[in-house]
Order: sequence, then structure tokens, then C-alpha cells
Amino acid sequence: MEFTKFNFHPKVAAGVTAAGYVEPTPIQAQSIPMVMAGRDVMGLAQTGTGKTAAFALPILHRLMSGGRGHVRALIVAPTRELAEQIHAAISSLAEQTGLRSLTVYGGVSINPQIARLKRGSEIVVACPGRLLDHIKQKTIDLSRLDVLVLDEADQMFDMGFLPDIRRLLKSLPQQRQTLLFSATMPVEIRTLAKEVLRDPETVQIDLVAPAETVSHALYPVNEARKTDLLLALLAQTGTGSVLIFTRTKHRAKRLGEKLSKTGFKAASLQGNLSQNRRQAALDGFRDGSFQILVATDIAARGIDVSKVSHVINFDMPNTTEAYIHRIGRTGRAARSGDAFTLVTAADRSMERAIERTLGRSIERRCIEGFEVVPESPTTNVQPRRNNRGPQANKPSRGTSSSGKAGSGSSKNTRRRNFSGRPAKPSAASAGA
Ligand code: AMP
Repeated sequence: MEFTKFNFHPKVAAGVTAAGYVEPTPIQAQSIPMVMAGRDVMGLAQTGTGKTAAFALPILHRLMSGGRGHVRALIVAPTRELAEQIHAAISSLAEQTGLRSLTVYGGVSINPQIARLKRGSEIVVACPGRLLDHIKQKTIDLSRLDVLVLDEADQMFDMGFLPDIRRLLKSLPQQRQTLLFSATMPVEIRTLAKEVLRDPETVQIDLVAPAETVSHALYPVNEARKTDLLLALLAQTGTGSVLIFTRTKHRAKRLGEKLSKTGFKAASLQGNLSQNRRQAALDGFRDGSFQILVATDIAARGIDVSKVSHVINFDMPNTTEAYIHRIGRTGRAARSGDAFTLVTAADRSMERAIERTLGRSIERRCIEGFEVVPESPTTNVQPRRNNRGPQANKPSRGTSSSGKAGSGSSKNTRRRNFSGRPAKPSAASAGA
């Protein structure tokens, strides 16, 4: 199938060509015709499936006719990173169209947003909290909205945004097209979908099938030796960009700092830091000036960084869905990728659950010198937290995470080890 089949407005088609897209991805092939026909759509798809273009292209096509200078499409996303990413994707696809997109989220001054809204924009990409502020202050006019997109709805639920979403819905015209995307379908999202979608079409894209180009491996290790094992793994594995996941913000920060001190070009993406530093971490990871990004699930959710060669789960995720989300960052667009998971005795049941989801067993690998010894009763193994636990539920009004750009050393011997060398399962002294 080719994009020409959709008969996009030539200026929208030009954006597709400029992006280099040749064939629509499965979610695009299924949902674009429905969205173009004006239907409400419930899209079950995770990030990396091409879902942004799946809603952005038909929206741009629709906006090519009708008025300009007022908000006609609103995309609501859980985090500012995701909002920026969607805005960037739309802006590039819309390059030839003259349609304008802007972002609205908290944690930054509201005034420049007000000024941009006054200048007029047809597309707004927003996080719920700040959007409600604009609605309250009457600095945004949504009375002539044509299309609403709720993206990563399950994540918005996890972050406590559903009450905000319901408040927002009250300020929108009833007569509109609504698209709701979610990677998973908890009952709360099913309920929301019933409330907001009218006679919807449902599109489901392999919810739990990770890219076949990803190879998975488990590294059993004692909790106390995780950092050393990670350093050994990094030192002996041929890798490009590496995304490392930790269980908590604090662990992400500490590990990012440790890796920077050890000589890696590493940054962490987690809470409590300014939007600028967060953006610097992401941009640096995207452009390759940081080879390693350490993040929590919430900080990294939905973030599209192509060319991630390795996803390393420093801590086991809390759910199989989180595992699939994490490793969805590598092996994209038929590139091969590796997903390594450090596992301790506390992770056994999650290991089995992931294997059941993948439908096969995952290879266990051992690096010499890191053989697992039985944990002593005093070993500090932290209890596993439920995915809907306190951290996940904390409403953060679009200010959920921030990043700290760790400093990389120019005299970085480890970096030379780090790229381009094939993996070999032998002992590593570096950093151990
Ligand atoms: P998304 O799931 O929207 O985050 O998209 C994941 C990545 O796939 C982004 O880098 C897109 O630019 C890319 N992408 C989207 N659609 C296509 C397509 N039809 N062909 C190739 N790449 C695509």
C-alpha cells in the first residue's frame, strides 16, 4: 500500500514525501481512512507504531479546507516531552501547508503561550493542567474545535489526569471528531472511551508484540552488584545509543551521575529539574552527544528516539506492558536492537510473566565474575511496587519529569570501548 491511496491534499502529501515515508505503517493503513471519513476512532497502539502521523496526516488534510486563525485541532498528551514530540512531528509534516501548531504545558511561563495563542494557531498540542489554566483565564478559544485527540490515554490515567480531562471535555463543542489512543485498556480508559467517542471504530495494533528485530536477554545478578554488572556490560558490548530504565527517579539520577563520573556521556531524565535541562538531556540523546540516557518509565514514556541500539532494564519493570513499552524504543523500523534486563531473585515472577507474554523463554546470560550468589537476609532487595503505585498516580499536570544532563568527559576512554565492538560474553574488568 502506498500513501497516494489516501488522496491527501497535495501540500499534506508533500509532508509525507519530505518525511521519507514510503509505506503507511499498519496503524496508519487502518486508521487514516476512518479519520478521513470523519469517524471517531479508538486506537490501541503503543509508541513507535507511527500513531502520531496516523492522526496528524488526516487532521492536516481536514484543516486544509475551512477557516484559519482559530484552534481547530487539539491534541492532549500526558507529558511535555510527548507534547513537544507531537508538535515537532506535526510541524514537519505541515511544513508546506501554512497550518500552525503550538504547545501548551506547565512548568514554563504562561505569557509566551498566551502571546502565541493570540497570534493564532490551528493546532494546539497540550498537557491537561496548563490547558485548563488557559481555559479558565479565557486565553484559549476552543469554541470552533473540529478534532480532539487524546493521546496516551492510559498514561494520562496513570498520572491522575482523568478528572482534568473530564473538566476539559465540558469546555469543548459537542459537535466534533474525537480520536483516543492508548497503549493499554484499563477499565477506566474503556469508561472514558464510552463517554467521549461516538460510534467509534476500533483499531488495534499488536498491543503486546514487540518488534521482531529486538533480541532479549536476562542477566541474573545480585542487587548490590547491578551497577558493576552494567558497567561491565557497557564496556564489552557493541552499542550505539543506550536507554537505561530504573525503577525510581532517584535511582535514575544517581545512575546517570555514576555513569558520567565513570566517563560515559550520560544524562538522566527524571524529576525535579528545569524544562531546559530536561530538553537538553533529550536533545543530547537524540543528536548523539549523550550515548546513554537513564530514565524512569514515566519520564521516558512515549518518547520517540530512533536509533536506540540497546534498552537496558537496570531495574525490572513492574508490568509486562511496561517491559513492552520500554523495549519498544529499540529495534524500530527494522533496525536490530537488544533488550537487556538485569534480574534479581525478587524478579522471578515478572521474568515468567514477560516470557509468557513474548511466548518464548528469554536467554539467560552470565558475565564471568558476576555469578549470582544467594542473597543474604540483610541484602537490600526493595519490594516491587505496583505500576499504579504512588509514583505513577501522582498528578503532575504535565510537569511529571525532568532531566539532568550529566557531563561527559572528553578524555573518555570508556567511550571508545563503547561503540562498535561486538558483544562477547567474557569477563570485563572495566568499572567492575
Ligand atoms: P510514533 O509511533 O508516532 O512515535 O512514530 C514512531 C516513528 O516512526 C517516528 O520516528 C516516525 O517518524 C516514524 N514513522 C511514522 N510513520 C512512518 C512511516 N509510514 N514510515 C516510516 N517511518 C514512519
